[in-house]
Amino acid sequence: MDNTEFIKKAKKYIEEIYKPYNNKIYVPMPETRNLFLPVTIGCSYNKCLYCGLNKNIIFKKLTLEEIEENLKKLQFITKNNRRKVEKFNLLGGNPLVLKTDYLVEIARLIRKYFPEVKYISSFSRVDDIIRKSYDELLLLRDNKYNRLSLGIESGSDKILDFQRKGVTSEDNLAAMKKLEKVKIDYSAYIILGFGGVKYSRENALETAKLLNKVHPFELVVVNLVYFPNAPLLDKVKIGEFKRLSPLQSLEEEYLLLSKLEMENVIFNATHKNNIIAIKGKLPEHKNSMLKKIRENIKKYSIKL
Ligand code: SF4
Repeated sequence: MDNTEFIKKAKKYIEEIYKPYNNKIYVPMPETRNLFLPVTIGCSYNKCLYCGLNKNIIFKKLTLEEIEENLKKLQFITKNNRRKVEKFNLLGGNPLVLKTDYLVEIARLIRKYFPEVKYISSFSRVDDIIRKSYDELLLLRDNKYNRLSLGIESGSDKILDFQRKGVTSEDNLAAMKKLEKVKIDYSAYIILGFGGVKYSRENALETAKLLNKVHPFELVVVNLVYFPNAPLLDKVKIGEFKRLSPLQSLEEEYLLLSKLEMENVIFNATHKNNIIAIKGKLPEHKNSMLKKIRENIKKYSIKL
């Protein structure tokens, strides 16, 4: 097969594999360079107030035959890659909701086509982790599910409840501790502005309090995204929820970071939605990151 023919076929395969996501593929920030494997479409929970990602999408799991078909196509697409494909990310809002046996079968299929696989990652809801026994989590870890991305969002029960996250801060802590016990690496997503203006301080303080008890390898700190079809927008319209200004977002971020006493964790606030991009290791870079936020708080205060 000549190069033109290869490119044509690979393009066709990519379209076929990712068509069910309508060009909207969301992957955890630390995993954007992985190979993306569709396993679920939508989110089995789909009730978060702020989320518009999966509205009107009925949750569905792909059959093992469909997953294998996609793996064959991915193997073809990546056959000329200089580097071996070692890192995977399962697509969908919460693939860990799948039964453990099913996830193990998916891992077996991945190994069949990509024997060099180092880890399989995915977004995960906290309650999906809590529902799994320690034995199940160990089985998953042994099958390369050794790097997950948890939607923690906040440490405040009041805010989690308002945003209809369906879990408490205690659940957040329990899930992270469970992963630590079985030695599955995880990143924790945190949302600035999750409590709006009214609970901005509470969001920073309670989240820092929670995070100081755990050891993710990375904190992914993002600003709250206002999805056009998220029910939260109705609350914004009637004034029940006030979004943070850029200055308020920086102040919340400053308070959060200043209260963190974590060790050996990356603080990653480089999402394009953040007011400024900062990234560094805690505790080594804490002061320089705080300095950068302080400088920007000054700039934004002058603009007012
Ligand atoms: S935020 Fe995550 S868990 Fe909540 S509805 Fe959206 S995809 Fe599902």
